[in-house]
Amino acid sequence: MTKDTSLIQEMKYNKVTLSFPEKNEVPFLKQYFSDSLLQFRISFVLVTFLYAFFGLLDPVIVPDFATEIQIIRFYFVVPVLSVVFICSFFSFFERFWQDLLFVSFLVAGAGICIMITLVPENYTYYAGLMLIFSAGYFFIKLRFFFAALAGWITFVVYNVGAIFFSDASNTLILSNDFFYASANLIGMFAAYNIEYYARRDFYLNQQLDEQIAEVDHLNVNLEKIIEVRTKELVLAKDKAEQSDKLKSAFLASMSHEVRTPLNSISGFAELLPTADDDDERIEYVDLIMSNVKDLTALIDDIMDISKIEAGLLELAESEFSLNELMNEIIKSFDTNEFVKTKSLKLIAKNSLSEGNSLIISDKKRLRQILMNLVGNACKFTNEGYIEIGYQLYLNEVYFYVKDTGPGIELDKQKNIFDRFMQSTLTHSPEQQGSGLGLAISKSLVKLFKGEIWVESEIGEGSVFYFNLQFKKGNNSTLTFVKNNNENMEYNWKNKVILVAEDVSNNFLLVKKSLRKTEAELIWAKNGQEAVDEFRKNPNIDLVLMDIRMPIMNGLEATRQIKEINPSIPIIAQTAYAMDGDRERSLSAGCDEYISKPINLKEFIELIAKFLEKQTG
Ligand code: ADP
Repeated sequence: MTKDTSLIQEMKYNKVTLSFPEKNEVPFLKQYFSDSLLQFRISFVLVTFLYAFFGLLDPVIVPDFATEIQIIRFYFVVPVLSVVFICSFFSFFERFWQDLLFVSFLVAGAGICIMITLVPENYTYYAGLMLIFSAGYFFIKLRFFFAALAGWITFVVYNVGAIFFSDASNTLILSNDFFYASANLIGMFAAYNIEYYARRDFYLNQQLDEQIAEVDHLNVNLEKIIEVRTKELVLAKDKAEQSDKLKSAFLASMSHEVRTPLNSISGFAELLPTADDDDERIEYVDLIMSNVKDLTALIDDIMDISKIEAGLLELAESEFSLNELMNEIIKSFDTNEFVKTKSLKLIAKNSLSEGNSLIISDKKRLRQILMNLVGNACKFTNEGYIEIGYQLYLNEVYFYVKDTGPGIELDKQKNIFDRFMQSTLTHSPEQQGSGLGLAISKSLVKLFKGEIWVESEIGEGSVFYFNLQFKKGNNSTLTFVKNNNENMEYNWKNKVILVAEDVSNNFLLVKKSLRKTEAELIWAKNGQEAVDEFRKNPNIDLVLMDIRMPIMNGLEATRQIKEINPSIPIIAQTAYAMDGDRERSLSAGCDEYISKPINLKEFIELIAKFLEKQTG
């Protein structure tokens, strides 16, 4: 109960005039007018008719004053009432209707007061005044305050007439006053209530409308919340189902993974006593040892995954040389028997000089990530090259591992970092693995507070990127952070560069590369967006165009942008400078071509070539 009433605020109004505060008064008066118009017209027709009709009785009742009284009726009151009635059909009426009704009440009242003054001995006219009061207070819809004012003025007019202009006795005047005052009081009371309830109705309806609107609003919000929650639930359910599937797949794969080397180990161990000679025995032992190595590696992986899952793995920092680490990794694969069977070139692109590359980080885990990525690259790539490198951005270092292998399909790229994903992919026997390498790498990169992602093209190759934060080594001549940035003392504060790039981390890299220059970047996530953004922003100074993008590729986007503005410099970027990509992008209208992963210095200098030309 208390709750219900608290929803409806108390009605605020002036107790004498009944007016609302301004905000509510205007709409109330509008509504009061439209609700009252019909009743006003009916009551006015009736009052005017009665006023005129009684004129027929005047010659019979008061033959001596019939002419004067009829003049009052037909020359004053009836015309005034008729004019007001006619006015009600015009739009201005709404503004003045209460004033006009007030005047009508006064004219009708004054008219009959004069009649009473003329013939004080005839009671019919006294009754007439009572009729005027009731019409004024109840029927014509004059508001309380105006009606009361008109009623009491009429009362005064009667008294002035009766006292000064008629020969009515004091007793008669007093007894009439008693009735007229009573009529006025009753009329006021009734008019007050009529208007009060009209206002209350209006107010309650208004409150109701507001609350309905609020409920509607809440409903809409609720629907939205439910929609969002449902989506979240569906996502969570899908995730749970997927992880369930992956777990089963993992168990199946694990048992296969463990069984394969175990089978070999137990098989050759059984054969060992039956070996013909030492050579055969050595061969069996080698096979056993190699399977033990595989099994140990698998168990290490599983241990890592469980440690990471339990949050037990911590980074152990030490000072080491990045270049040394890169070279070590290349060397370990270069001398690998399996890799030697392929025609692969392994390259390390170290962007810092030897003395400058000392950093403090967890070497063991960083090596583990790189070994996983390079291991995969060697496993899946049969010919071409594998390139590893890094690039520094203030206190972050970005690594990449690029290969010319088979590439990874777009829909699989999303999942390869998930645990045990491998078992859902199809591979040749030598490419089989536990499916844990990338999952472990991803978790390790996370420990380094970095991110890992891949860009790949079927038939051309893959580039894996990851970044991590590092501290500079104590013993290093470390000026490289500064040097690195000093190389690019360009200020492109007022320059706008449109970056068309579908992979968000790659856009981030470009952003970091250009941070110092203060150039403004606009990011388009595909070719179509690039064309749209270019149309929208006529102040773009240069476009960096990734070639392989969904919806519309970079070549088509370049063509369309060059049609809009043939002189805009466009630099194409792609991870693979193969199959005539360079020629294709130049013939599509690109002005230059740079291959990813970008070399910071070359990248900035290339952009400078175009931007500085514009300013220069
Ligand atoms: P695995 O132990 O099977 O290599 P990973 O987690 O390391 O497991 O890799 C998951 C899957 O991602 C691989 O099975 C393979 O399908 C795909 N993959 C990883 N790296 C490459 C690459 N360089 N080229 C092509 N496919 C790759």
